[in-house]
Amino acid sequence: MIKRNTKSKQAVIDFLKKHDYGLKPDDLIKELAHFDKVTIYRILQSFLNDGIIHKAISDDGISYYFICKTCKEVHFHNHYHFKCSVCEKVECINDEIEIKLPKNYKLENINFWITGICNNCNKLKSSSS
Ligand SMILES: [Zn+2]
Ligand SMILES: [Zn+2]
Ligand SMILES: [Zn+2]
Repeated sequence: MIKRNTKSKQAVIDFLKKHDYGLKPDDLIKELAHFDKVTIYRILQSFLNDGIIHKAISDDGISYYFICKTCKEVHFHNHYHFKCSVCEKVECINDEIEIKLPKNYKLENINFWITGICNNCNKLKSSSS
């Protein structure tokens, strides 16, 4: 049981690491069809708790999961997520945002969601016109 669990965890982390953009649970379920759907959701949740991955929710309510690059014991993200309206890929834009809160307020999470056209799609667009 434990061994099997480790194997599915490894498969999920490998799949996430293979992509430099955010993945939807559906992408994982489709790719890792030999694992139980519930198991995949459970793994994602435990990775979230452990600070291995983070998620961003789009304005249409879809969760995207990303590998955390800078988190240690707790999540701390002050970057935004960019969704390309052409290829629909979602990326972490690792450009720090400076937020000024009133005195004695503590920042815990930011959910910035930006839509536009990514570098790749922009290049394709300008070369075809
Ligand atoms: Zn994180
Ligand atoms: Zn694109
Ligand atoms: Zn991110």
